[in-house]
Amino acid sequence: MATYAYQCADCGPFEVRRPIGTAEPRAECAGCGAPAPRVFTPPLLARTPPAKARALRAQEASAHEPRVVDGVPPAERRPAPPPDPRWAGLPRP
Ligand SMILES: [Zn+2]
Repeated sequence: MATYAYQCADCGPFEVRRPIGTAEPRAECAGCGAPAPRVFTPPLLARTPPAKARALRAQEASAHEPRVVDGVPPAERRPAPPPDPRWAGLPRP
């Protein structure tokens, strides 16, 4: 299945899922029923989230040239949670 994009003049863009190679040059708009022309979009390039794109670039770069570091990265310390007032009533050791 593939997702094909169409542009209705009144309702705006919409997508239709069909088997690959079966896209019609026009599709019926689900909102108003008017025939809408197909628009062409780059496949999956515009929909890649920025964080995923960064991860993919880093993965590709490290496959050919691993990143070299000078030392062990510092450990991340979580801040202590705020004290719970109910702890004051607990017995002390
Ligand atoms: Zn429409």
